[in-house]
Formats: sequence, C-alpha cells, structure tokens
Amino acid sequence: MSDCIFCKIVKKEIPSQFIYEDNDVVAFKDLHPKAPTHILLIPKKHIEKLTDMKAEDSALGGKLLLAVSKIAEIEGIKENGFRVVVNNGKYAGQEVFHLHFHILGGKPMSWNPA
Ligand code: 5GP
Ligand code: ZN
Repeated sequence: MSDCIFCKIVKKEIPSQFIYEDNDVVAFKDLHPKAPTHILLIPKKHIEKLTDMKAEDSALGGKLLLAVSKIAEIEGIKENGFRVVVNNGKYAGQEVFHLHFHILGGKPMSWNPA
C-alpha cells in the first residue's frame, strides 16, 4: 500500500537497515525500542493485521514463524529466550496497520499478560 510506512521500508523508500531478509519477509530494528533488542518482523506483502490473513497466506504464516528463530540467532537472544508480540487491532494498541511481529529480548521480561 502506497501510504503504509512498513511497505515503504520494504521498498527501501524509507532507509532502514534490514537485519534479515528473504523473498517473503523482512526484519529491522524498531524505531523506539522497548527492550535492548527490539526487532520488527513483517511480511513483504501488505496485510493489515493478523486476523486479515487468509488461507492463501498459510505458507507465508509459516515463513514468518520460522524467521523468528533465525532472527533470534542473528541477534544472539535465542539461548536466553525472548518474547514475540503481535498487536492485533485497536484494543491491543496496534499503531501501524501492516502485520508485524515484535521480537523483544536482551533482558528478562517483567510483564507477562498471558
Ligand atoms: P504497533 O503498536 O503497531 O504494534 O507497533 C508499531 C511499532 O512500529 C512501534 O513499536 C513503533 O516504534 C514502530 N515504528 C513506527 N514507525 C516506524 C518506522 O518508521 N521505523 C521503524 N523501524 N519502526 C517504526
Ligand atoms: Zn504495508
């Protein structure tokens, strides 16, 4: 989508250092990190939120989940553990409506809502 910040990042219209990229997904540092390591993992395809994924996106969903582990390895947070957060819609506080996984690590997590 032309006015979507994350689509602009995918197309490199907004400069951003990718820490991981393949044909379907890309990961980069969050602009306002909430933890020592705070990575955003997104599909290159514009999908507004998790609940907008369709059956045709099932392979993409798998690729996103598998990329989490690769990113954790790259960032050196795999051994100690980390958190993956997806804000879905208004009540979750979603601000950018292009599906993204927050990957948070580098310290023990103090808040456990689940
Ligand atoms: P949400 O609240 O939608 O789950 O999270 C959006 C996240 O995107 C926030 O953590 C915010 O800091 C991050 N963010 C917003 N705009 C940009 C940007 O232009 N570049 C990067 N790297 N992160 C952004
Ligand atoms: Zn987008």
